[in-house]
Parts: sequence; structure tokens; C-alpha cells
Amino acid sequence: MPAIIDGKAVAADIRAQVAEEVSRLRERTGRTPGLATILVGDDPASAVYVSGKRKASAEVGIADFHRQLSAEASQDEVASVIEECNRDPAISGILLQLPVPAGLDGPALTALISPDKDVDGLTPISAGRLLKATPGLRPCTPLGIIELLDRYDVALEGAEAVVVGRSDLVGKPVAQLLLQRNATVTMCHSRTRDLAGVCARADVLIVAVGVSGLIGPEFVKPGAAVIDVGINRTPDGLRGDVNFDAVLERAGLLTPVPGGVGPMTIAMLLRNTLTAASLHEPVPAPAR
Ligand code: NAD
Repeated sequence: MPAIIDGKAVAADIRAQVAEEVSRLRERTGRTPGLATILVGDDPASAVYVSGKRKASAEVGIADFHRQLSAEASQDEVASVIEECNRDPAISGILLQLPVPAGLDGPALTALISPDKDVDGLTPISAGRLLKATPGLRPCTPLGIIELLDRYDVALEGAEAVVVGRSDLVGKPVAQLLLQRNATVTMCHSRTRDLAGVCARADVLIVAVGVSGLIGPEFVKPGAAVIDVGINRTPDGLRGDVNFDAVLERAGLLTPVPGGVGPMTIAMLLRNTLTAASLHEPVPAPAR
């Protein structure tokens, strides 16, 4: 009997947990985690994403340090806002909303974020820490994917995991997280030959491509856990990269779009902000 993974319910549970831990941190240390969202320009989609993140943060008690810059802001102006946030001890996490307007160098700006405040996990240092499996902040969507697999008791150790898509945001980091959990990981991309054949070997199939309905039932091993990261706006509404109805017949577990991975991304941003706040906790003086 295939099961539909309820990302909304898992995300709600994580948000409640984070809210509890935020209030415990405040009682214990008097400190409140703070998130600086930096939005450059007035792209309506980015504004909606940022306001969703701010609202979710406020709901769990994270303090809001939003910074809005005009579309005409220079590279130096954005850089100096990031550096101010790096220095501000009230700010535990910094998120630069991407993409930044044309003319600005997004990767160079992202790289300025202090790695210990990098709640999106996208700086080169965070990527290096992930690759080396040393402590650090990990990208939110990949963390959310692993959390869903864990909540649904999907065994990762020794499992055949196939990741379709090799972005820095999702594909590459989720492959690293799966590897750290001792899965046997194969990465596929636009040049992969026989995509269906490779995917059909997977006990765990993660798809982050951005092509509506790319993955049909012939790509899916019976009983596999299938995580659909894709978000595609189609005339019929939001759709994932997986042909949901057809694959549901074959998969053991499947995420819907919307309501699967999407809600997990914000939930993990909140958890990362709390983790970052704990990293910055002052070390108590040693007992004499
Ligand atoms: P991207 O858009 O940067 O890159 C797409 C990847 O897919 C590339 O690595 C490319 O090699 C691969 N690809 C393209 N066509 C392919 C094909 N026909 N067969 C196999 N591989 C192919 O990737 P991204 O930023 O990870 O985004 C992927 C999708 O995930 C998008 O729909 C995006 O909106 C969605 N997304 C969702 C969330 C979420 O929270 N749910 C978060 C991030 C991204």
C-alpha cells in the first residue's frame, strides 16, 4: 500500500519543536535567536519567499532583522550590510535572498556571509564542511529531505540512492548527506544516459530537476521511496518532477507537490537559525 509523505505535518511538528527550544534557550541564556533576511530589489516572487520566511520565524519566536535594499544598491552597499550582520551579536543567522538583481555578483555576496551564520548553508566554507563531514550548517532543502526519510523510517544504510539533478542548492548537498548516512549514491543529470534505467535501481529516488512529470512509473523500482523536489508552474497548477498519479501505483512512499518537500525547507531554515544561535552561545568561564 503506497503512502503519501505528509511534509506539511512533519514541518509543523519541527516548527513546534523549534518554538519550544527557542523559549528554552531564552530562559537558560536570556538570548533570542535572530534572523537577518536580506532582500535586494523588488522581485515579487522573492518578496513573497522572504515574507514567508519572516512570518514563520516570528511564529517560533526568532527575532526579525530584515534588511531591504533598493534594486539600485551596489555590490559594496550589499556587502557592507552583510558585514554589519556578521558583526551584530543579536543576529544568529543571515539569509541573502537569491537571485540578486542583474549586475550584482550573487555568489561573491553569499561568500561574505560568516559560515557560522550561514543558515542557507550555501557559502563555499559550508559546502567544504559538508564535503568533509565536519560540523556546520547544511542547506535547508537537503536537510528537509533527509528528515522526511527518517520520519518515515526509510533505511539509508547500504541503500541504493539515486539523485537526479546536480545543483549546489539541492542535488550535490543531498547526495553528500546520503553518502554520510552510508547509502550507495548515484548522481544523474542532463547528460545521463538511460536515466530511467539508473533510476529504476533506486531504493531511494530524489528528483530535483524542474521538468514537470519527467519521472514516470518506468523510472521507479516497486516499493521505492520517491522524493519529488521539483516545483513547476503549469496550466494545471503546481506540479512536481514526478508524474504523481502514475508513480503512486508503484512507489512505496511518495511526496506530493505541493505539501511534500516545500514546507520542510522553511522548517529547516528555522532549525538552522536555532542551531546557529546555539553555536554563538558564549562559552561559560571555566570553574576555578
Ligand atoms: P537547477 O534548476 O539549478 O538545475 C537542474 C538540474 O537538473 C541540473 O543539475 C541538470 O543537470 C538537471 N537536469 C535538467 N534536465 C534534466 C533531464 N532531462 N534529465 C536529468 N537531469 C536533468 O536545480 P535546483 O535549483 O535544484 O531546482 C530543481 C527543482 O527543484 C526546481 O523545480 C526548483 O524550483 C525546485 N526546488 C524546490 C525546492 C523546495 O523547497 N521544494 C527548493 C529548491 C529547488
